[in-house]
Amino acid sequence: MTVSNAKNEYTVLLAGNPNVGKSTVFNALTGMKQHTGNWAGKTVSTAEGSYKFNSKIFRLLDLPGTYSLNASSPDEMAALNAIETVKYDCIAVVTDATCIERNLNLVLQILQITNKAVVCVNLADEAEKQHINIDYDELSLQLGVPVVATAARKKQGLKRLIDEIYNVASGKTKTYSITRKFDDKTEKAIQIVSEALTDIPENDKRRTAIHILERKQDITDNNTINNAIEKAKKFADGDIRDNIAAIRVRQCEEIYKICVSRKNGEYRNRDRKADKILTSRIFGIPIMLMLFAVIFYITIVGANYPSEWLSSLFTFIGEKLTILADNLNTPFWLKNMLIDGVYTTLSNVVSVMLPPMAIFFPLFTILEDLGYLPRVAFNLDSVFCRAGTNGKQGLTMLMGFGCNACGVTGCRIIDGESERKIAVLTNNFSPCNGRFPTLIAIISMFFVGVFPIAVQSAVSALILVGIILVSILVSLLISFILSKTILKVGGKSFLMELPPYRVPQIGKTIVRSLLDRTVFVLGRAVLVAVPAGAIIWILANIHIGSETIISYITTFLDPFAKIMGLDGAILTGFILGFPANEIVLPTTLMIYLSNGTMTDYGSLTQLHDILISNGWTIKTAVCTLIFTLMHFPCSTTCITVKKETGSIKWAILSFILPTLCGIVCCIAANILFDLFMQ
Ligand code: GDP
Repeated sequence: MTVSNAKNEYTVLLAGNPNVGKSTVFNALTGMKQHTGNWAGKTVSTAEGSYKFNSKIFRLLDLPGTYSLNASSPDEMAALNAIETVKYDCIAVVTDATCIERNLNLVLQILQITNKAVVCVNLADEAEKQHINIDYDELSLQLGVPVVATAARKKQGLKRLIDEIYNVASGKTKTYSITRKFDDKTEKAIQIVSEALTDIPENDKRRTAIHILERKQDITDNNTINNAIEKAKKFADGDIRDNIAAIRVRQCEEIYKICVSRKNGEYRNRDRKADKILTSRIFGIPIMLMLFAVIFYITIVGANYPSEWLSSLFTFIGEKLTILADNLNTPFWLKNMLIDGVYTTLSNVVSVMLPPMAIFFPLFTILEDLGYLPRVAFNLDSVFCRAGTNGKQGLTMLMGFGCNACGVTGCRIIDGESERKIAVLTNNFSPCNGRFPTLIAIISMFFVGVFPIAVQSAVSALILVGIILVSILVSLLISFILSKTILKVGGKSFLMELPPYRVPQIGKTIVRSLLDRTVFVLGRAVLVAVPAGAIIWILANIHIGSETIISYITTFLDPFAKIMGLDGAILTGFILGFPANEIVLPTTLMIYLSNGTMTDYGSLTQLHDILISNGWTIKTAVCTLIFTLMHFPCSTTCITVKKETGSIKWAILSFILPTLCGIVCCIAANILFDLFMQ
């Protein structure tokens, strides 16, 4: 990190609770396009941008959204770490005007560490609509730092924010810190630690002492301070951290009472009414399932046509490429490897993945923007608690439906080392976007044929919801087993106030989710598909004796695969699909047709015929569904697990765990089918 030059360049940290519009403020100031959304932990790593004002450069670091600075989750740790190590000139704390009381907690904690701060009260437009009156001048007096009201989405108040940041950063505005009184015993404890802080300016001693006493981990390697902390802790009744936290809550209430008044609670009431239904014990979970069924239905129905168009377009381009390669006298093997291997894999991945993703992601983002996802976490909390973890794991699981690597990264929002590891290890049980096309294709081909055509898509969507329920149950079961064995945890309910509902900006949401998520996931899949296509083509075309390498592998795996109700070709498809799940089915097909080319399966009827003629039955379909749901994560996810846990051991476990479950369930299904269905 470069140290800022006080004259020409200032460093500004952007802190705040999750979901207060921090990314929106960041984007508005820097002109950048960070993804904005509505749930905790979205800003998982520090983003950086800059803007110019008064011919100075302001480097803006966007910290992860946190409710406190107690360093008890990686997000909090990252935020605190940045505040402690970056040489900043100003911290802009973004808060939500509609629930400022809750946000004040973090503000007071930050003001404990620094008074080079500006408080940005965002969503001022929303507060006005809700008839919440905030006396900003009084708030500024109470806090001792400038307070600016903004409506970042409408770009209101930003000029003043930029001004005030400049004034604080350049030292023009003199800020002061107000040190509010704690109870006598806590005061004594604070004093003991203050006295041990010899290196710190007199003015900063008190608040630094409070901060030190409140941290979850004792930080210092200075023995005098450590001894003082020990001594101070003995002074306090009970847990000093709890005392400080409880008193701070009271301080927030006091400031709130002085500065905020509400005319009526109409809007809150509206939210409360909605929550009564959407998070009720009886309707909460069924409504959630119905919503997801509708999303899947729209995805399945909507994706069919564009998938077919894309695949005919790719076939057309493929034919032209073949003619071009012939005209250029490209060597036979090179032409085949590039067109039959790389190009066909690529076009398969794009035509199968792009349409469902382009529909699913925006719909999901609209739910996110509406403020519904935290309600999902809330609904799932009690279920997850029984499994030894908490509802936040539900959120990371949902992210996993998009992409497991994203889900694993999202686990940073979970407090507690063990809970987080459980969430990381079980994330792969959520079928990701790369697996949905396989699931949907198999369901449509084998399980809905008996229904009238008009309702087949709806039945497919319902079956898919059923499969997702199974995946959630398996996730819960495995979490439960892990929490009772290698990762002992108690299952503590998490504290998360439900943010207000907001009208989503539909147009913007669609564009952003297409650009941020769809293109990102697709880009990654394409990157993997290119080398994978070449390798698979080589394996399928190089002969050793009379057989190709791939057929040796297939024959070798066949006996084992048969025990699992699959066959050698399917299992080989899964193994070669390690780089990207979406190539599992195309690879299997290529092996069946043993023509060394991946077949395009634009038409499901055609695909169904190929599978049936290669011995597929309902049993094969069920076992393939099970193994699609439960097998090793893709290579990107494995690497992400290693990165997030910092250990190869957990990455290996995350590989073995679902694979073992898949093998056991497939064998069980195979035996049951043989016993009862024949
Ligand atoms: P973050 O989690 O703190 O980064 O919050 P985001 O920037 O993702 O914003 C959360 C939601 O609040 C998004 O739907 C934004 O469009 C919306 N939002 C942000 N700022 C404002 C604002 O000033 N007014 C209103 N009405 N909505 C806002």
